[in-house]
Amino acid sequence: MTMETAVSTFVESLSVTNEIANTISSTYVANDELATLLSNDTLPAAKKRSLPVLTPLACWTLQLLLGSNVTEPSSDTGVVDANCRVVSTPLGGSILTHINRSQACQLPARCVVSPASIEEVSLVMKVISFLQTPFAVRSGGHSPNPEFSSIGSSGILISTSNLNAITVSPDNSVASIGPGQRWGAVYEALDPYGVSVVGGRIPQVGVAGLILGGGLSHFSSEYGLAADNVKNFEERKPNVLAYVNQNLKVVLASGEIVNANAETNSDLFYSLKGGGPNFGIVTRFDLYTIPVKNIWFQATGYAISELPNVLAAFTEWQKNGAQTDAKSSVLLNILNTGISIGLVYAAPATYPEAFAPFAAIPNGVVAVPPTNSTVSVLTSILASSFSTTPARHLYRSATSLIDEKLYNETSAYFIDTLNALQTQRNVHVNMTYTLQTIPPSLVEAGEARGGNPIGIPSQAHQWWTTVTDWNSASDDSTVIGAVKDIGDSFTRFGTPRKTNLSFVYMNDCYADQNPLAQYPAKNIAFLKETAGKYDPRRVFQILQQDGFLLTRVR
Ligand SMILES: Cc1cc2nc3c(=O)[nH]c(=O)nc-3n(C[C@H](O)[C@H](O)[C@H](O)COP(=O)(O)OP(=O)(O)OC[C@H]3O[C@@H](n4cnc5c(N)ncnc54)[C@H](O)[C@@H]3O)c2cc1C
Repeated sequence: MTMETAVSTFVESLSVTNEIANTISSTYVANDELATLLSNDTLPAAKKRSLPVLTPLACWTLQLLLGSNVTEPSSDTGVVDANCRVVSTPLGGSILTHINRSQACQLPARCVVSPASIEEVSLVMKVISFLQTPFAVRSGGHSPNPEFSSIGSSGILISTSNLNAITVSPDNSVASIGPGQRWGAVYEALDPYGVSVVGGRIPQVGVAGLILGGGLSHFSSEYGLAADNVKNFEERKPNVLAYVNQNLKVVLASGEIVNANAETNSDLFYSLKGGGPNFGIVTRFDLYTIPVKNIWFQATGYAISELPNVLAAFTEWQKNGAQTDAKSSVLLNILNTGISIGLVYAAPATYPEAFAPFAAIPNGVVAVPPTNSTVSVLTSILASSFSTTPARHLYRSATSLIDEKLYNETSAYFIDTLNALQTQRNVHVNMTYTLQTIPPSLVEAGEARGGNPIGIPSQAHQWWTTVTDWNSASDDSTVIGAVKDIGDSFTRFGTPRKTNLSFVYMNDCYADQNPLAQYPAKNIAFLKETAGKYDPRRVFQILQQDGFLLTRVR
């Protein structure tokens, strides 16, 4: 196929006016780098940032096609608020690269593209595929992993922030949510309908990243993960138009919008329920609502000297209340200066029996009194539980069986490590030590809803994580190394106690971890097969800058 034919086929696929088509065609056929690119028939087998020299051409094309929904960050002086929402967009509709929560992820993309419709997402993918442009996709930008939902000047950042519709079906059973939404806004919108969804616990976190990694909620013990409660994913698969095969014939892809649910594209549906960013850009999530409106919650603070009592009560609840009453969930955050315990019950209550062990901990300071209110109110209270001061962030995953002694040993190690960083090495860093409880009912609820590929251990266990914030890039390796060491302490202290689990939870994993490698081998084979079927050119494996990609798993 000649370059002219390839360009003409590509331009035709865009369905644009003659004037725009002629402008693109004449610019493309005069481009030597594009000629070189088109003379090669496949994407590079090895992952490399292929011909970023064409990235400016891709941005130029998208500016022509999407107008003000494309912006070049270097000239952007907009402002975001503490909730990562754009409050000032002087270039008109522009979305800033510094909307990513972690400063380590605020990278200078060559351009930021914010499609306002699925048709625009389609155009973006057509251009990216044709010009082989490195890209990243961002929903809420809460991944602290650099280059997952951010990209430097070699590539394009696709922001889904304009795809933010929330609609509820006439019978209130399904909420359709755009990937540009955040969980706080979702619960606020659902409150008047008297229903909720299984989603994130902190309001600023984005909808898409959380669901694609699984999605642990206050209500997961009863209903499973957020991904287990998806009825339908709508996504735009990568367009493979103008891919020239070895026989120099054009292999056309449909380019249509794909729905993935239990009946249609069920392989893709299953794969998206925790399979990460490997299959396409999801443009809408249809979530089953849950009949949860009024819930009970309270929060209490404790001095760090109460840590043994807190861990004893927490372990007792994990072994008893969490097993027998799936409506109960606990948010436990340990700092080196104090402890906070949030008790959440998925129905109105006075003081749920499941939480009895916590009532016995002495010297608590009430932070939030016992309250019956809505999910939205709880979520807005939790907004202040994490710092919104601009900083560098990370989290990390480590899991284990339930074991009070292990918690005592690892939390003591955490406190010693953090104290040493702050006082001996003068690092401006804050860390939480957070234990999240996974009862068998969570896995059973997921299986009852069709299952997912994650392979969560079926026995009662915990997912440890940390939210770590620090100021200076010069401390990156010190902090990242210290957090890794604390995470690894679960294995060190756990080995003699036989509490180790190899599973790590994707949504809590730092970039150097490999959650997919712990999925059952047969599920990984299935995910790879699905990715090959829906993305035969491997656009999401090769051109996507980074992420928990299947290419990380042998
Ligand atoms: C303060 C805090 C609280 C958290 N609370 C929870 C919690 O309660 N439960 C839980 O499970 N996790 C929680 N997390 C982890 C969170 O789920 C992950 O960080 C998740 O990736 C964030 O989603 P996002 O949309 O904001 O991420 P982003 O950074 O925007 O994206 C994350 C990944 O998803 C991909 N992606 C984004 N949009 C799309 C799309 N439309 N189609 C395809 N791929 C896409 C990106 O390319 C990237 O690889 C929390 C994290 C933080 C920092």
